[in-house]
Amino acid sequence: MSRFVYADNAATTKLSQTALDAMLPWLAEGYGNPSSVYRLGREARRALDQARDQVAAALGAKSEEILFTGTGTEADNWAIRSVAESKKEKGRHIISCAIEHHAVSHTLEDLAKQGFEIEYLPVDECGRVSVEALDAAIREDTILVTIMFANNEIGTIQPIAEIGALARARGVLFHTDAVQAVGHVPVDVAVMNIDLLSLSGHKFRGPKGVGALYVKKGIKLPNFLTGGGQEKGRRAGTENVAGIVGMAAALTEAVQHMDEERAKITALRDKLIQGMTAIPAVKLTGDPVNRLPGNASFVVECVEGEAMILMLDAVGIAASSGSACSSGALDPSHVLLAIGLPHEIAHGSVRLSLGEESTEDDVDYILEKFPGIIAKLRAMSPLWEAKS
Ligand SMILES: *Cc1c(COP(=O)(O)O)cnc(C)c1O
Repeated sequence: MSRFVYADNAATTKLSQTALDAMLPWLAEGYGNPSSVYRLGREARRALDQARDQVAAALGAKSEEILFTGTGTEADNWAIRSVAESKKEKGRHIISCAIEHHAVSHTLEDLAKQGFEIEYLPVDECGRVSVEALDAAIREDTILVTIMFANNEIGTIQPIAEIGALARARGVLFHTDAVQAVGHVPVDVAVMNIDLLSLSGHKFRGPKGVGALYVKKGIKLPNFLTGGGQEKGRRAGTENVAGIVGMAAALTEAVQHMDEERAKITALRDKLIQGMTAIPAVKLTGDPVNRLPGNASFVVECVEGEAMILMLDAVGIAASSGSACSSGALDPSHVLLAIGLPHEIAHGSVRLSLGEESTEDDVDYILEKFPGIIAKLRAMSPLWEAKS
């Protein structure tokens, strides 16, 4: 039997058994349309209501503040585009940061083409934004602060409560892309003064193709999709009942077991970090302290990220690199450049992201295979030869 180690939980997670069990009835006999008035429909409606309560409870929100979406990407688009549209008479200045997910950054680039002024706060070498810099950046015409909760590549967690408190005090709406954080670290929209928050089911062991947007009560946003009356007319389209139920079940489970899972995964992550950084010229990226429990990301000098991923795959390890070979050209990740890494170092990035099903054996296996892979690739590198 060949070995398989899944170390790409930041890309997606395996559906939990609890989520799958919760979904199955709604993919089979519970096929009613939640908008139908007869019993089959009413049962589906009740399942949606319960799912909404569960998602709200996990975030410290009220049920009516949760709107279901198709993906995390959609939630980001809805939040950002809606605030821009509804506040454009007040101002056109939006503050974000340099390491956002493309679901946010490409949306902002699109808004820039429509005449909005986007200010990207820099991050320090750990990937953290400065609350003082944010304070200085907020202006009379600032309509939105959108800063991610935790970064998908390097795992850095932002000072969200401080950012929320500041935005609230300055009277500016605050959106956070919390797709990497929800279900993994404590998130409380009330305590953290969050006005809008995006999440996605498949990042916490729910199904793919379902997400949610939290919108604080009292905030009026334009409807995102027009059509029927679903989601109070704000996001028309027949609801993905099974997906929504599965997402809610996965989130409830994740929040219930968060403390013990966090402790377990963090210990595995730290063992992985220790083993990896013992290899010469391998450095941890992201914040050593304020980081997601499962994220172990590195740059490996004189090695291409893609080459590592392919060689890891050959020995049954699924990982990813921030330096994806897109459209034939090696594009180093904007995140790694923003934390100040030179291009040639950023090319050698690798992200190992652990989850609930990760074991110590997995970590040992990675640490058994990885040094040899790096040595092999470096043996072919003229840069490494010149260096040593
Ligand atoms: C995965 C991810 C998204 C996109 O979520 P989808 O549901 O896959 O569209 C957005 N932001 C971050 C930080 C992510 O990690």
